[in-house]
This record gives sequence, structure tokens and C-alpha cells, in this order.
Amino acid sequence: MKYFSLNHQAPFVDFSVATIQGQAPDKGLYFPETIPSLPKDFIDNIKQYHKTEIGVTVMQPYVGNAMPLSVLEKMVDETVNFPFPLVSITPSIAALELFHGPTLAFKDVGARFMSRSLAYFNRLNNKPVTVLVATSGDTGGAVANGFLGVDGVEVIILFPKNKVSKVQELQLTTLGSNITALEIEGNFDDCQAMVKEAFIDKDLKDTLTLTSANSINVARWLPQQLYYFFAYQQWQQQTLPVIAVPSGNFGNICAAILAHQSGLPVQHFIASCNANKAVTNYLHTGIYQAQHSVPTYSNAMDVGNPGNFIRILEIFDHSFQALKNKISSYSIDDATTIQTIQTVYQEYNYLLDPHGAVAFAALSQYLMQFPDHDGYIAATAHPVKFPEVVEKTTGLQIPIPEAIRGLFTKEKISINMPANFEALKEFLLNRK
Ligand SMILES: *Cc1c(COP(=O)(O)O)cnc(C)c1O
Repeated sequence: MKYFSLNHQAPFVDFSVATIQGQAPDKGLYFPETIPSLPKDFIDNIKQYHKTEIGVTVMQPYVGNAMPLSVLEKMVDETVNFPFPLVSITPSIAALELFHGPTLAFKDVGARFMSRSLAYFNRLNNKPVTVLVATSGDTGGAVANGFLGVDGVEVIILFPKNKVSKVQELQLTTLGSNITALEIEGNFDDCQAMVKEAFIDKDLKDTLTLTSANSINVARWLPQQLYYFFAYQQWQQQTLPVIAVPSGNFGNICAAILAHQSGLPVQHFIASCNANKAVTNYLHTGIYQAQHSVPTYSNAMDVGNPGNFIRILEIFDHSFQALKNKISSYSIDDATTIQTIQTVYQEYNYLLDPHGAVAFAALSQYLMQFPDHDGYIAATAHPVKFPEVVEKTTGLQIPIPEAIRGLFTKEKISINMPANFEALKEFLLNRK
């Protein structure tokens, strides 16, 4: 399989080069030259397959010759080794719980696959890959955890001091091993600016193999297809599922749409957005306009100009009509988000996180128009990750899930750093 840049000014590359580069040299996103078609037999008999078999079948065409089958098998196996239950909430709405991984969010899947891919592709290099990540909280945890203990990769993670939640801070600072946390005396934008500068600094480029763990990387994007197949294994209704995905940078929903193009049966997609609604507007007007992002309770979706949306356009050959036939979008405000958490908890005894609540509200609106259909939301994060919102609206003290209970007894280790690039550079050049 070859990948081309959606800016069309860069050479075709294979999966390994696309993974190592992240973004194409012309700043475009990589896109597969062809979208594979899965055998009908495989889809019809999907219930019989193990998660790893499904993962290998779906990923193999994308990986192509970049790694042997046995390596891919091991990688997929390690990536999806936690449950992905489809849990019914109401008679017509279920939740695909994507939060049973180590950091309680769906990003664990992409991060785990990407880390192992990078390590494999760098195996013949005697220098480790240095992954630099700036995080406002959530992504960093999944990336750091996904790379934990992976040979040949070291992760330096920059987070803004006192600006991430307690759980997030512990997730970033207690890992040790090949993960180093830098606590930056500034905000997220400062962290991001420092990382950006590092990528263009000549001295650093000459000394280190620097890479980012950006969400547009094909090795993070493509494996997100897998859990939509796992959901289909568990789907019991007569009609095909309407799938509502809480969307920010649109990588997750784009993976679902790609899976559908390959043969996964889906009725319709609901791009569920908060007040950041560039795509919702586009689907209503046909005009795409990037916005400045606005803060909301579902903050992992506060994206004004979703990076992956162009990949969705590409899947539909830039046909607005084709896109509209398959995707609807709703923008859900904070008040409705809160109210949805409350009602769903009171009426169905199911606790949504703010991102899942946005999807639930959007799917409910769609199903009011199309009452014969059923669907599920992608429950992208565990409610315990957003205690401020969820505990306030439900009055409920959320029990700490097993997966993170151990965090609270671990020692926090981080390095304080002023918010300037020179400090970061000196640190990177003079370690050990
Ligand atoms: C990252 C994230 C999203 C948005 O996913 P995209 O792939 O960027 O659209 C939604 N919910 C949660 C909890 C997230 O962490």
C-alpha cells in the first residue's frame, strides 16, 4: 500500500515512511492510494473472529509490506487487549465503551499501535526515536502510556503546570521508565510553541531523531477502525447501526467512515460536535469556514478547524451530496450536555462523560427524525476523567475505576521548566 499527500506535492510513500514522517513534506495529510474491500464472508461471519484476527484482517492491507504478518499480529494483539463492550442505554441507543484501556480513553488504541509501529520501523537505527508531545491533558496521557516500556523510543511530554486535572497529572508524571514529564511554567499554547520550535531547530535535528505523536499520523488514525468492527460483532438489532461519534479533530469518525467504505455495514453517521461547529455548519450550508476554538465542557473536542476533515472529503471524492447522504452533524451546547448527563443518569442509570453526552444528544435528535433506526454512541472517555462536570450535574461521587486506582499511590516525578524554547533545547541536548 502506498500513501499520497492530500496536498499532492510530495512523493508516494509506504506505511513505514508515512508513520515516521507523520505529515508529508508538503504539509499535507497522508491518505491511502486505494481503500481496501473486505471479503463479504468476513463481514457476514464477523462474530466468529477473535479481536486480533479482525484487527489483522483490517490493518494488513494498510500496512502492506512494511512489516511481516507475525509482527503485525503481535502489535494488534497488544493494541486491543482490553474490552470494547457495546452497552445498551435505552431501547434504541447503546454505548460503545472505548474507555477500558490504560488511560480510560479511545486514544489508547491509536497510541498503542503507533508506538509499536515506530519502534519497529526504528529497530535498525542505533539512536532511539525521541517523541516530543505537548498536551493540554488527555492526549498526552494516552500517548505516554502507549509508549511506556516500548524499546527504542523515548517520550518527552510537556504539560502546563497547574492546568491539568489531578488524574491527568498523575497519568503524565508517574510512569517513569522511558517517559519524562516536563512541567512547563506556562499554558498549553506555550508548550505547543516550544515543541514546534524544537522540530525546526537545526542542532536538535542533527543530534536527535525527533518525531511527534500527532493525531493525524496514519499509525494512530487507521487502527481506530477496529473497534467499529468489534461493535458490529455485538450489534443485535435488525436495522444497521447509526453511529454517533463525538468529534473534535475528526480522526475517530473518519476512521469509522473508512471502515464503512471497506465494507462495514453502517446506516448513517452522526458527527457530534459541541459549540465548535465548523463541520456542522458546512453540512448545513456547503461552505467550510474554520473557526477560532471556543472552550466547552467536552474540551477534547474544542477544535475550530478539524485537521482530519479533509480526509473525509477525500473518502467521498469531494462530493457534498455523497457526504450529506451518509453523515449528519449536530452542534450541542454546554447546557444540553449537562442536561443530557443528568437525564440519562436519572432515567437509565447510565453515566455519560461530557463527550459521550454530546453524542447521545446528537443521536437522540437524529432518531427523533428517523424513529425506525437504532444506533450507538462512541463513548470516548470514562466519566471519572471529568469529575468537575459529571459530579456536579449528578451529585454522584464516581468510583475510581480499577485501571487508575494504582495511580494515587505512585510518586510524581517531573522536571520544572520555564516556558522558553532555550530551556527545552538545553535539556534535550544535555541529558544523561
Ligand atoms: C480526542 C477526543 C475526542 C475527539 O476525537 P477526534 O478524533 O479528535 O475527533 C473526543 N472525545 C474524547 C474523550 C477525546 O479525548
